[in-house]
Amino acid sequence: MAKENLECSFCGRKKPETNLLIAGLDAHICDRCIEQAHGIVAEESRQSRTDDLSAELVLKKPREIKGFLDTYVIGQERTKKVLSVAVYNHYKRLLQPGSKQDEIEIQKSNIVMVGQTGTGKTLMAKTIAKMLNVPLAIVDATVLTEAGYVGEDVESILTRLLQAADYNLEKAERGIVFIDEIDKIARKSDNPSITRDVSGEGVQQGLLKLLEGTMVNVPPKGGRKHPDQKFIEVNTENILFIAGGAFDGIERIISKRLNMQAIGYSASKREDIIDAENVLQYIIPKDLKEFGLIPEIIGRLPVLTHMNPLDRETLRAILTEPKNAIIKQYEKLFAMDGIRFEITEQALDYIVDKAIEYKLGARGLRSLCEAVFTDAMFDLPSSDETEFKVTKPYAQEKLSFETINKLKAVS
Ligand code: ADP
Repeated sequence: MAKENLECSFCGRKKPETNLLIAGLDAHICDRCIEQAHGIVAEESRQSRTDDLSAELVLKKPREIKGFLDTYVIGQERTKKVLSVAVYNHYKRLLQPGSKQDEIEIQKSNIVMVGQTGTGKTLMAKTIAKMLNVPLAIVDATVLTEAGYVGEDVESILTRLLQAADYNLEKAERGIVFIDEIDKIARKSDNPSITRDVSGEGVQQGLLKLLEGTMVNVPPKGGRKHPDQKFIEVNTENILFIAGGAFDGIERIISKRLNMQAIGYSASKREDIIDAENVLQYIIPKDLKEFGLIPEIIGRLPVLTHMNPLDRETLRAILTEPKNAIIKQYEKLFAMDGIRFEITEQALDYIVDKAIEYKLGARGLRSLCEAVFTDAMFDLPSSDETEFKVTKPYAQEKLSFETINKLKAVS
């Protein structure tokens, strides 16, 4: 057969109409058909990988999710409940293939947690990611800036997620992003016309795009240091975003609102139901707006919940109760040297007392323990000792005034 009479066995194009015609044993294929076939293969394998991932993601019921959280996070009952439901709904939405075909489209349940630093917001996000076995990226909103300014673009959040997923795109696309210090990108004034607050509002606008679920071009190595890298397209539709922040001063906004509501009808009744010690529990989305988050962002973070301040009982429980409680970790460390570690109730109470007295919070508990046990951890492995008992006087001796002051300075 003359060369120009050869044709693609798939689409029938003659050789001159193609850029390339590849010969097989007794058939030919043109460049266009190869490209098309490649697309089909890629889509098929993507689909089957997604199906595999769905099988991997074992969806637990809200009660089970909360049960898992309980083993790591002390207290914060309401938030654990709210989070369990939000996570359940999020992954239910993502695992049900038919959900998009009918009229009802289940919206994302992105979450915002409001509460003082050190109350367990990050721990909560980490625990959920651990339970679901999905990648987690923890990012600090304060380093984000609008494109073109010094700092990181919002897309860098997804770079982190890709890294956490070992660059497995399908895994990253159903991962969790924890955005810490979301309150730091609040607009400084509630009135948008007074000042143009570039850093805050611009970043919020940038984040909006990610939160609402779109395709985003992500530089896989991040930053602007690698200008030649090929972008990866990441779909954020099934990524769960959890935002956290201390929102310093928001109590005033909440109290003001509550007081205004309290004036007039049924005022006297309201007084006794308001717990002035912990007004954060009455937070509503409007308070976030007043604080300086733009309404669109608030709308994309529909699940709003709060963290309670850690009281003495909670701090005490954090020392010994969670699955990987601080004291359990020391027990294990000493056991590895063949040393039985024991600490008295009084010594534990004393450590908690100091954490409260010097306002060191839950993070401080670890540093206090470190200060108490370091000498023993240094000496005992080279000795014949097989037991180490920590009593209150021992802890008192190790936690001198200067030591605590040093801890206070770094916390
Ligand atoms: P946040 O993100 O709110 O600033 P973190 O989650 O980073 O706080 O908490 C700091 C540390 O304090 C955690 O690593 C954890 O050990 C401990 N912690 C805080 N709150 C709790 C809690 N409710 N239950 C158990 N541990 C907690």
